[in-house]
Amino acid sequence: MEIKEHYSLKEHHTFKIPVQARYFTEARTADEILELSRHPVFRSQEKLVLGSGSNVFFTKNFEGLVIKIAIPGIEITKRQDAYAIIRAGAGVNWQELVDWSLQQNFAGLENLSMIPGTVGASPIQNIGAYGIELKDVCEGLEAMDLESGEIREFTSEECRFGYRNSIFKNELRGRYAILAVSLKVSDLSAPGVTYRPTASYGDLKTKLESMDPKTLSPRLISETVSEIRRTKLPNSTLLGNAGSFFKNPVLAEERAKQLIREHPQVPWFKDSQGTKISAGWLIEQCGWKGKRVGNTGCYEKQALVIVNYGAATAKEILAFAYNVQSSVRETFGIELAPEVNII
Ligand SMILES: Cc1cc2nc3c(=O)[nH]c(=O)nc-3n(C[C@H](O)[C@H](O)[C@H](O)COP(=O)(O)OP(=O)(O)OC[C@H]3O[C@@H](n4cnc5c(N)ncnc54)[C@H](O)[C@@H]3O)c2cc1C
Repeated sequence: MEIKEHYSLKEHHTFKIPVQARYFTEARTADEILELSRHPVFRSQEKLVLGSGSNVFFTKNFEGLVIKIAIPGIEITKRQDAYAIIRAGAGVNWQELVDWSLQQNFAGLENLSMIPGTVGASPIQNIGAYGIELKDVCEGLEAMDLESGEIREFTSEECRFGYRNSIFKNELRGRYAILAVSLKVSDLSAPGVTYRPTASYGDLKTKLESMDPKTLSPRLISETVSEIRRTKLPNSTLLGNAGSFFKNPVLAEERAKQLIREHPQVPWFKDSQGTKISAGWLIEQCGWKGKRVGNTGCYEKQALVIVNYGAATAKEILAFAYNVQSSVRETFGIELAPEVNII
C-alpha cells in the first residue's frame, strides 16, 4: 500500500478547506488495513478513518495518518419471506446503495436518498432523514479494531444508536474501522408483501399529500426526497459545506412546551428521543439565514448549513459558527451542539 506524505485533503472533504494530512493512504480491503497496521507509520501516528469527508470539519492540518476506506461490493446475504439482508462494503457510496436497492425492488432506504457519503460512515452518526434513521434498517456491521487488528461483528443494539450518535462517536471513538454494514430491507418481490411508506415527515408529507397513496412506491419517495433535497441543500461540489453544522436540540418536556407557547410557529417534532426543535429555525430567527461574513455564511435556503464561499479558512468558519451558537444561546437560552465532526 502506498502511503503519501504531505497530502492535500481538499478533494477528500466537502467543506473544501485547504488542509493537508501528514500521511495518507487508501484501503480497498480488510487485508490491506491489516497489512497497513504493521507499517511503522501506522504504529507511530494518530489515525483518522475517512469516508468521503462530508461530515468532517478540518480546523487544521492532520498531523497523523488518514486512512480513506474504499472497500467496494454489495451483495444479498439472506432472503427470507418478506425481507432481504444486504451487505455493503464500507467504501460504497451511500446513494449507489440506495439506487441498487431500488433496482432490486427493495424498500427501506428510499427516505435516506441523496445523503452524501459512504456506507461505512452511515452508522457513525446514525444517518437520518425524512423520518428514517440508519438504526431502523441496520442489522449489524463488521469492523476492525485498529489497536489489535481483530475483526469484530456488532449487532445493531451494540452500536447504541441515538440521534446522530452511536457508540463510535463515544466510547469507541476512533477505535474501529468499519468494513461493511448489513441492512434489513423489505423485499417487495416476495408474495403478499405490500409497501408501507414512511411519508408523514415535514416537506415530504406536504409533497405527497396531493398524490394517491396507492401510487406511492420506494422509487417515487426516493425521487421526491431527492427533489426536495436538491432545492434546499447546496451542491458541495459548487459550494463547500458539511450539511447540517448543528444538531436539532432535544429539549426536556417542560422547556419544549414553554418554547412552543412563546413561539407557536417553531417547527418541532417528537420522537423516541424527546422533543426536537428545528435548529435551522432558531438560527434563522437570529437573522443568520443567507448572511455572509467574509468567505463564509449560512446558506440562503437552509440556515443550518454553513458554507464556504471558496476561500474560507477554518478559523473564519469556526468564528462564524461560534457567533451563530452564541446568538441562539442569548436569544433562546438553547445550546446548539455541532453535528459535524470537528477535527
Ligand atoms: C449537503 C449535505 C447533506 C447532508 N445531509 C445529511 C442528512 O440528511 N442526514 C444525515 O444524517 N447526514 C447528512 N449529512 C452528513 C453526511 O452525509 C453523513 O454524516 C455521512 O454519513 C458522512 O459520510 P462520509 O463517508 O462522507 O463520512 P466522513 O465525513 O468521511 O466521516 C464522518 C465520520 O465518520 C468516520 N468514518 C468514516 N468512515 C468510517 C469507517 N469506514 N469506519 C469508521 N469510521 C468512519 C470519520 O472518522 C468521521 O468521524 C449531509 C452532508 C452534506 C454535505
